[in-house]
Amino acid sequence: MLAAENSLCDFRPITAPKEAWLYEKTIGDGVVCYLCAHRCFIPSGRIGICKVRENRAGTLYTLVYDHVISLNIDPIEKKPLFHFLPGTPSYSIATVGCNFHCRFCQNWEISQFARERQGVILGESSSPASIARLALQSRCHTIAYTYTEPTIFFELAYATAEQATRAGLKNIFVTNGYMTPEALRMIQPYLHAANIDLKGFDDKRYRRVCGAKLQPVLDSIRLMKELGIWLEVTTLVIPGHNDSDEELRQMALFLKDVGPEIPWHLSAFFPAYQMLEAEPTDRKTLLRDRQSCRASLRLLRKSSGHRPRRHILLPLRQDVDTADGLLCGIQLARPRALSFLSDRH
Ligand code: SF4
Repeated sequence: MLAAENSLCDFRPITAPKEAWLYEKTIGDGVVCYLCAHRCFIPSGRIGICKVRENRAGTLYTLVYDHVISLNIDPIEKKPLFHFLPGTPSYSIATVGCNFHCRFCQNWEISQFARERQGVILGESSSPASIARLALQSRCHTIAYTYTEPTIFFELAYATAEQATRAGLKNIFVTNGYMTPEALRMIQPYLHAANIDLKGFDDKRYRRVCGAKLQPVLDSIRLMKELGIWLEVTTLVIPGHNDSDEELRQMALFLKDVGPEIPWHLSAFFPAYQMLEAEPTDRKTLLRDRQSCRASLRLLRKSSGHRPRRHILLPLRQDVDTADGLLCGIQLARPRALSFLSDRH
């Protein structure tokens, strides 16, 4: 039985890698993985940028299939999703690994596990059927693939989502949005909602700080909307990095263009991983940012917190009609510490 509620699973070394999906063989024993927008060329004996997909003599393997590193039962609002099955618990899982290496990652201990430990990968064996069954037994309405990037454990997420859908559960990705259109279209029949991180609107900063490009994230936001997957967007507001009025305005205008009804969450940053020098986001900054964006969007929510590595939601109590449309009013309630792990990564 996996450890539940706010804890990491017992560790067990991986023993049986599974052949990966979404790759093609190229010259020699090389392969190209097209699971995410990095589209890594991986020579034989090497691993991809995410550190969890390995080419062994021309066959690409996922090193994290059915090896879950973290499992929690969270309120769905923690993802955050405020307009999809509100008030329900969500069975939340992750493996190690990520295709980004954000300097400010709030869950770097597991997302960067293989990178920081010279390729070591750990987790507890857990089949898609058992994950779906435990989610049902826990009276969860959804399974969330979260904490690290679900794209890099795509085979596990897909197989679990398929079984969960048959059992009447819904599936949620909390994602950096860097999957390819091929991957997104493949899982779409079983993916009911997502929260995508939009980490800013500056491609150079995306490359420098996260090791990725901005455009594929914007493309995923548009495609998810087109595919009819319920979508909410989150921006981790980092003072002095992505919180200028101009950058917030650009993000707001982009989201308005995709769909002004998309809820946008502004989330508070705490110094973490390789960005310990930055200041945590204070409440005043989030309130100022909300004012900067309110003319552009219909739904805007603010998350904040007061302790490192805790994501504390300030629940909204009312929606307010304005000349610009529906803006979610904010009243601060007593903060609830929801989980050790953040859904932002
Ligand atoms: S999932 Fe992305 S980062 Fe990992 S090997 Fe495939 S293309 Fe590279």
